[in-house]
Amino acid sequence: MSKIPFNCNNLSGKLRQNEPMSKHTTWRVGGAAEWFYEPSNVKDLSHFLQQLPTNMPIFWLGLGSNLLVRDGGIKGVVILTAGLLNNIRLLDNHQLYVEAGVSSAKVARFAVREQLAGCEFLAGIPGTFGGALAMNAGAWGQTTWELVKEVATLDNQGNFHKRSEMDYAISYRSVKGAKNEWFTAATLQLTANNTQQKTRQIRDLLKQRNESQPIGLANAGSVFRNPVGDYAARLIEKAGWKGHCVGEACVSEKHANFIINHGGAKAVEIEDLIQQITVSIMKNYGIQLIPEVHIVGEY
Ligand SMILES: Cc1cc2nc3c(=O)[nH]c(=O)nc-3n(C[C@H](O)[C@H](O)[C@H](O)COP(=O)(O)OP(=O)(O)OC[C@H]3O[C@@H](n4cnc5c(N)ncnc54)[C@H](O)[C@@H]3O)c2cc1C
Repeated sequence: MSKIPFNCNNLSGKLRQNEPMSKHTTWRVGGAAEWFYEPSNVKDLSHFLQQLPTNMPIFWLGLGSNLLVRDGGIKGVVILTAGLLNNIRLLDNHQLYVEAGVSSAKVARFAVREQLAGCEFLAGIPGTFGGALAMNAGAWGQTTWELVKEVATLDNQGNFHKRSEMDYAISYRSVKGAKNEWFTAATLQLTANNTQQKTRQIRDLLKQRNESQPIGLANAGSVFRNPVGDYAARLIEKAGWKGHCVGEACVSEKHANFIINHGGAKAVEIEDLIQQITVSIMKNYGIQLIPEVHIVGEY
């Protein structure tokens, strides 16, 4: 291990070097993170950020379910939240406090158990609630930020902030706010609910998902955002891409907006396929497809 370029005394989290990102993305691809930090809690994470050199690049990682990490890996430090910043609790007035590393599915289940309604759609979205905030994740016509009353953030100096929706430009699968600031938690405003009916609704939504998506295969969900008034999957299927492969990376036969890693795909093959599809849809239909997945790291 080369010399750690920051002071790790008094930290209770775990620091690793050269951690393969393929272990932390649902596509199962990606080179190594130069440094990889698993905080023990939000305070520890703040302390860690205070120690970092100001020029050290920082990347926050949830479950890696919307992420293509290139084969050359990520320079600087990757901070893992999934399963680590993991508190969820009921507040007064039908509100929930949710930390960034709680899975979106758990938020949905917890809310139903506490007889609250509004976040059933989260049940089938893989990933952390922090990732859902960053992506404005959504399904069945509902989106994450419709629920948000307030968020807590940490900046790259380790300072805490409280912010509201007004501090962000929020649109379809896009959230833009202060630079060098990340979500540690959110307060959600929900409504009272009938538990039995909501449990049934979640079961039905998961069933529909299982029928339309390639379950059990390595993928990152929808690769492209839907263009206005259309569906990326419809265009990709119409252009004949279903089943087309670059190496082990193939367009799903079940859902044309999904790319599957059939085992040994490299990130460069997935990115190549994304590029080829983008060019083809522009050439055939004059429509610019924009990736929904975040593509990061070094070639
Ligand atoms: C099978 C499948 C189905 C899916 N279905 C849906 C769907 O129906 N709807 C939908 O919207 N998405 C869907 N997705 C995509 C994905 O699950 C969501 O976007 C999810 O919210 C991403 O969360 P994550 O924790 O995996 O984020 P990651 O992939 O780890 O990160 C995504 C981005 O968010 C940033 N980020 C992560 N955590 C934080 C944080 N705490 N603060 C600031 N930035 C952060 C990362 O830096 C990165 O840029 C699906 C994915 C899969 C694999």
